[in-house]
Amino acid sequence: MKFISVDNDEEELSCKVMKNIKASKDLGLLRCVQCGMCTSVCPAAKFTDYNPRYMIEKVLENDKSVVEYEEIWNCFYCYTCHSVCGVGNSPCEVNQILRQIAVDEGKEDKFLKPLASYGETFLDIGIGGIPKSFFMELHKDIEGWLDLKENLDSIREKLDLGPIKMSEKSIDEVKNLLKNIDFDKRVKKLKKSHKKSQ
Ligand code: SF4
Ligand code: SF4
Repeated sequence: MKFISVDNDEEELSCKVMKNIKASKDLGLLRCVQCGMCTSVCPAAKFTDYNPRYMIEKVLENDKSVVEYEEIWNCFYCYTCHSVCGVGNSPCEVNQILRQIAVDEGKEDKFLKPLASYGETFLDIGIGGIPKSFFMELHKDIEGWLDLKENLDSIREKLDLGPIKMSEKSIDEVKNLLKNIDFDKRVKKLKKSHKKSQ
C-alpha cells in the first residue's frame, strides 16, 4: 500500500495536530483555557520539567519548536490529563502526535532505542515486558530485583500461581499477528534510525 504525504510546513501546528489520524474527532485542543489542571495531576510533571499545559500553549501559539522539547518524552501516556480536562482536550493525545512529528522529521532519534527494545521484547515473549537491556539498571536501583526476576517462577509456584510465561504456541500466534502488521519491520526501522543518529 502506498501513502501520499500531504505535509505542509506552512500549516498551523494546531491544525496539523487536529488533522492527524491519531487525534480524536472531538479533541478539544482549540478549547483549551490554560487552566493548568492537566499539569496539576500529571505524574510526569511532578517529577520532571515536563508541563502538559505549557506544551498545549506552545501548540496553540504555533511554536513548532515544541516538537523538539526533550521534556515531551517524559509523558508515559497514563491519560490522567485526558480524564480531568474540563474542555475535552487531551494533552496525552497531543503529545503522541507531537512525538510522531518529531520521529517523522528525524528530530528525536535518540529516544527511539528504548522504544525499539520494548518492541523486541513484545516479539520475544508475546506480551509487554521490561527489555533485558534494562535489567542491570533496575538491579542497581531496586535491591534484590534481579534475584526476584530469576526466581519468579518458583516464587509463583509457591504461591499457587501459574507460570507467567506464555506457552510457545501462544507466543508464536502473537508473533504471527505482529508480523502480519509489519511490527517486526517497524522495530528494525526504529533500531536502524537510532544507529544512524549515533
Ligand atoms: S488541556 Fe485542559 S486541563 Fe490542560 S490547561 Fe488546557 S483546558 Fe486546562
Ligand atoms: S498522559 Fe502524559 S501528560 Fe497526561 S497526565 Fe499522564 S504523563 Fe502527564
